[in-house]
Amino acid sequence: MANKYVYLFGTRKSEGDKEMRNLLGGKGANLAEMARLGLPVPAGFTLTTEVCTHYYDNKKTYPRELSAQVDKAIGEVEKKMGAKFGDPKNPLLLSVRSGARVSMPGMMETVLNLGLNDEIVAGLIKKSGDERFCYDVYRRFVQMYGDVVMGLRPKDKEIDPFEHLLEKKKEKHGVEIDSDLPATALKELVAEFKTVIKKRLKRSFPEDPKEQLYGSIGAVFSSWQGDRAIRYREIESIPHNWGTAVNVQSMVYGNMGENCATGVAFTRDPSTGQNKLYGEFLVNAQGEDVVAGIRTPEPIIKMKRILPKAYADFVKVCGQLEKHYKDMQDMEFTIQQSRLWMLQTRSGKRTAAAAVKIAVDMASERLITRKEAIQRVNPSDLDQLLHPTFDAPASPGAASGKVVFSAEEAEAQAAKGEPVILVRIETSPEDIGGMHAAQGILTARGGMTSHAAVVARGMGKCCVAGCGDVVIDYDKNMFKAGSKTVKKGDWISIDGSSGEVMLGQTPTKEAKFSKEFGTLMKWADQTRKLKVRTNADTPHDSDVARRFGAEGIGLCRTEHMFFEGDRILAVREMILADDEKGRKKALAKLKPIQRKDFEGIFKAMDGLPVTIRLLDPPLHEFVPHEAAQQKEMAKQLKLPVAVIKAKVNALHEFNPMLGHRGCRLGITYPEIYQMQVEAIFEASINARKKKIKALPEIMIPLVGTTRELEDLKAMIDRVAKEISAKKKTKLSYQVGTMIEIPRAALIADQIAESAQFFSFGTNDLTQLTFGYSRDDSGTFLPEYVDKGILAEDPFQSLDQEGVGQLVRLGTERGRSTRKNLKVGICGEHGGDPASVHFCHQVGLNYVSCSPYRVPIARLAAAQAALVK
Ligand code: PEP
Ligand code: MG
Repeated sequence: MANKYVYLFGTRKSEGDKEMRNLLGGKGANLAEMARLGLPVPAGFTLTTEVCTHYYDNKKTYPRELSAQVDKAIGEVEKKMGAKFGDPKNPLLLSVRSGARVSMPGMMETVLNLGLNDEIVAGLIKKSGDERFCYDVYRRFVQMYGDVVMGLRPKDKEIDPFEHLLEKKKEKHGVEIDSDLPATALKELVAEFKTVIKKRLKRSFPEDPKEQLYGSIGAVFSSWQGDRAIRYREIESIPHNWGTAVNVQSMVYGNMGENCATGVAFTRDPSTGQNKLYGEFLVNAQGEDVVAGIRTPEPIIKMKRILPKAYADFVKVCGQLEKHYKDMQDMEFTIQQSRLWMLQTRSGKRTAAAAVKIAVDMASERLITRKEAIQRVNPSDLDQLLHPTFDAPASPGAASGKVVFSAEEAEAQAAKGEPVILVRIETSPEDIGGMHAAQGILTARGGMTSHAAVVARGMGKCCVAGCGDVVIDYDKNMFKAGSKTVKKGDWISIDGSSGEVMLGQTPTKEAKFSKEFGTLMKWADQTRKLKVRTNADTPHDSDVARRFGAEGIGLCRTEHMFFEGDRILAVREMILADDEKGRKKALAKLKPIQRKDFEGIFKAMDGLPVTIRLLDPPLHEFVPHEAAQQKEMAKQLKLPVAVIKAKVNALHEFNPMLGHRGCRLGITYPEIYQMQVEAIFEASINARKKKIKALPEIMIPLVGTTRELEDLKAMIDRVAKEISAKKKTKLSYQVGTMIEIPRAALIADQIAESAQFFSFGTNDLTQLTFGYSRDDSGTFLPEYVDKGILAEDPFQSLDQEGVGQLVRLGTERGRSTRKNLKVGICGEHGGDPASVHFCHQVGLNYVSCSPYRVPIARLAAAQAALVK
């Protein structure tokens, strides 16, 4: 059998259906489906995407069989419409439209009113009795064909020759809009348009309808490789070899008089999700008038009064379409002499808020199941709903404030009630106070998992990290971005989701959760298998996370507690001490403070597990590196500056992230970890006195050998025993480890013998598996992603192929020696939907992520559980 390249719709039968979008494109497949449903669709046919691929594979020629198949299809359409293509006595006019597998709005070409010449227009006038209308249609056709098919399209600032002639004509007749031009004027315009085509292109306008048809089909196929379309596909990751289909359809007219109209509508409001028709229409107009912006369209509800019958029909069709597609539809329609015609339907694009409401409402209306509702919402989109927003639509996670260049300044200004944006070349842990005080953070260096971004995410702060266009001059208290200079105290606004930095102030408001959001989350919780915990270091963050549904803390980074207020002084005193005795003295000052921190967190997480990680970063992060601050520190500690300088130099490491950090600190300075462990146990006893249930899980970072964990676990158990004996009470706690060094994953079976739980630190595990520094990868990773060397930034979405193997293997090996080993993940990946899916597949017990990502992880975990 010959290849089939042409599929009919709306004729005696529709040959396609909605499942055939790869072959017929989205528009063609849905036209066929609507026709099948018995909805009013003007008859037509679709040239498949295979014609397009053939066209490009064969030097822009068509398959041999095409011409005969098109002729046959036209014959069927003619029969259905009772008119003949190219017949002056009873002409049939056609439209030619593109239609790729996925919608590429406005990227390809359309030709309307095709099949006219001077002789045929005369016949059309006779048939319709409306000369003005016929010349209007003819004028539009010649203009569109000249532009789209023949290429007489103005470049950049050139004047459009057709529009120019049209304007002149309107001036001559003293009218403002096209529809007020008389038939004679339109007739003159047709001739003038043809003349300008001939003059400019040295080619005549084709009078033969068949030639017009193939010219238009060719123009649509060519537009698949137009600059606009190529760029769009690059951005949207649409393969270039898919090709477009072409839909040839009988024309219906919305411009035949006051009982005609054309419009676009959604079955529900795409920005709020409200279940009411949303859209606009224009009376006595053709499709392009709605988008052209010359006349302002009316809200669809007005159609009820102006064209009541057509409106009622349309409302009915909307109901049928939703019921059939089980989703909100985005439609185009035309009303010709009070009769409704459907020209397109597809799933409508929507905001996150609308997606949630529509999914929940449709489940309540029993149009879809709860499971389907859970799968309808993209978890990452929830981000739009969780952060404070600019008080304008569609700008999530945003902040405005006055520029400051140091953490101290940020705290000082914030204490006075000033909203500030902290602008730093990069942030270090010592900036934490300033980051907390600021409304938002802007850094010139760093990436998604650099310190600033991680901390900001944890705090729910808006952060634009690694903004390379910003050149900061701390000495002059200013930064430059392109030609703009911003000084300390100037207002800027930053948008953490788009990465935009704007001059001036934009008001924001707190995010509010809808009733439907709560419902969807409840359904997700009933479905998921993975638990969702949070990474939080303060009672405030813990409270936020609990409000977002966190089921415990998966990572409390204790180092963050060392920076607040005066405690950094005690930390520095400890670092500067020459011996154990000196360190212990300083640590004794820190212990009550830590204990209080833990009490606060246990209270916020009453009854839920709290994983507390012992100190992790290299000590040099706690001492200042700038001369002025070193001087200040010397003053505070009453020591010569030289001593400070010498200590800072001594702490210098070439690769600090591979250096003296994590459990290596615990092994070499056991008194530090011991102080922390005492603080944890004492806090848990104090909590119990207040009827708070503390469930501490003590976690050792950066373990690479069994002995590291065994020795430190022995210390923890010993301290527990001592405190139990002293306080005459029992302590319940667990001891576990992070798995963030590849070696630890490989020997996980041995490690599990002394670990009650594992938590994969996939930030370090990614860093160490790839050998990419977390803090410096911003210099090359974006290019790697652009070039396709990596599909994604592995610090954002877990590299399942490589790093994921270590997670899988570590889990399996760990559970081979400890069957009930609890396993979680607490790297930034814990809040990334694709990584959450992976964690579900691997059989982890929980994911832990920053508070603001908790709802995202809950929904992603539910979706993962629904995958068969
Ligand atoms: C990790 O490495 O994944 C982790 C959670 O620890 P941190 O980011 O504090 O190194
Ligand atoms: Mg780590």
